Amino acid sequence: MRGFILSINKAKEEDLVVTVLSINAKESYYRFFGTRHPIFQIGYLIDFELLSDNSKYLPRLKSVKHIDFPWIMDDTRINIWTDFIKALEKHLYDKTKVDDFYFELLLKSALILNKQNPKRVICESYLHLLEHEHRLNTNPICLICQNKIYNKVSLMQGYKMTHPECINQYSFDIDLILNFFKSKSSIDIEDKDINWLFERVKKGF
Ligand SMILES: [Zn+2]
Repeated sequence: MRGFILSINKAKEEDLVVTVLSINAKESYYRFFGTRHPIFQIGYLIDFELLSDNSKYLPRLKSVKHIDFPWIMDDTRINIWTDFIKALEKHLYDKTKVDDFYFELLLKSALILNKQNPKRVICESYLHLLEHEHRLNTNPICLICQNKIYNKVSLMQGYKMTHPECINQYSFDIDLILNFFKSKSSIDIEDKDINWLFERVKKGF
């Protein structure tokens, strides 16, 4: 099996409970002496087998191998990736069954993270996630006052649109954001705006 490590929690002594997102599941597994292995890092893609001898306990991870990406030693990229994974973990916290979209999204994003600005990769991936969950709204109506947005827009959690004056926040041209939502390409967006859009994702889905 293959999966991305979403979270790691210490169990007794040197053991770990590792939560892994694989193609159609998000499950927690037990690993004896896991703290001794640097392979257990949030966001890493691992190949593994499971040992389950008693349904009372979590299945045990065995034969774990790290599947490397070229950016794994790049501090900037690994930090951005880890922030994204942590936000995703919170988003999927109470789910055990997930469809294959989430694993595929992470895999696609990880494969291009070294080729593009990593924050752009994350923001674009986040739009795909919102669309998949039917939460990507391209109708420019303010969430707070319910009136139409004509010029400038601010974004709340879930990239929900509001008038800047309704929440007193950082603003963008509405056309820029609507094009971004529709094309899911950040090519027209400046780096400072991407920084803000990434921080919004980091705070929660
Ligand atoms: Zn408003």
